[in-house]
Amino acid sequence: MIEVIGVSKDYGSFPALQNVDLEIKKGEFIAVLGPSGCGKTTLLKLLAGFMGPTAGSIVMNDSMVASAKRVVPPEKRNIGMVFQSFALWPHMTVADHIKFPLRHHPNSRKDSKRAMSLRINETLALVGLDSFAERFPAELSGGQKQRVALARAIAPLPNVLLMDEPFSALDVELRMEMRKEIQKLHRETQASIVFVTHDQSEALAIADKIVVMNKGKIEQIAPPELIYTRPETEFVATFVGKCNVVKGHWQDGRFVPAIDSKSSWPDLGVAEHFKKKGLYPVRPEQVRLSLSTGTETQGRITYVQYQGHEIHYTVEAGVETWTVHEPISSPRFQVGDAVEISLKSAPKPEKDLVFS
Ligand code: ATP
Repeated sequence: MIEVIGVSKDYGSFPALQNVDLEIKKGEFIAVLGPSGCGKTTLLKLLAGFMGPTAGSIVMNDSMVASAKRVVPPEKRNIGMVFQSFALWPHMTVADHIKFPLRHHPNSRKDSKRAMSLRINETLALVGLDSFAERFPAELSGGQKQRVALARAIAPLPNVLLMDEPFSALDVELRMEMRKEIQKLHRETQASIVFVTHDQSEALAIADKIVVMNKGKIEQIAPPELIYTRPETEFVATFVGKCNVVKGHWQDGRFVPAIDSKSSWPDLGVAEHFKKKGLYPVRPEQVRLSLSTGTETQGRITYVQYQGHEIHYTVEAGVETWTVHEPISSPRFQVGDAVEISLKSAPKPEKDLVFS
């Protein structure tokens, strides 16, 4: 439905996006994830039509909407947008916020008054604001304001919903609530969603597919579980969740760590990038700590953090520093304890996790 083909965007001489290729299918929920300044908003602005690419093109529903020569403006793209700042109009009621885009959107401009009023009520119900139609923004909570912004964007039934860090102004509880809401909305509207965030847990929780960006380039595109279990680069491994990247070398399809270890280091789909560099990514929960008996990799606890359901340890083991997450029921260690590090057997990849 949307194809981003070899898109680059320079601001003056600064390359904010470099040769980005991306395909967004109809009804897909995509999270664009990356650190501050990696080019997420730039990509969203190009998809919206606020500006054009320096090179490459964007195709929506088989027609070219952006190239270095020509840019189709936002109002002709059948998209909805939600921003971090809500961007509500203080003098308009909740109902007016929804009526406004309906009046101006090509999808609903010709609707009768009755059809429009039905659509307003339907949209308010969808975002749980049925009884707030006559309120002004100043009379709403943060979560309710963000719902109004969502309702305004989805009212004209856009094909694509572009969201730029829409929940970052909300507190943790509300963010969780809004995540559920947006997933429900996605199921009910079937619009494609491109959701920009720098919060990896948010991306893992809500999207069908995550696009991980770094320094203007895409590092990996895959469903959340694959991003987590089969990262393709060190950046993805360490940006999305914690990861120990162990040094060593690969020999005959097996990893031989530089540290002294009797653990088995199976190749459960470790990406080529790690193999070429003689590395092995291990998630903190794949590591087991036990009291030192002198038989496995030796380390010393340097930091302990209680997390409720888990204990997070930092362990110095020679030149390596390990992050280990142990369940609360496992034996407890203190700072300074001598421990052994071994690997738990990693789960086999599920067949249906294979992504092409
Ligand atoms: P954040 O998470 O902080 O919002 P981002 O990933 O959305 O960051 P962008 O806003 O896309 O990043 O910016 C990408 C890079 O381009 C940054 O280094 C930024 O400073 C630069 N940039 C963005 N807009 C402009 C502009 N109008 N002129 C010059 N440089 C810009």
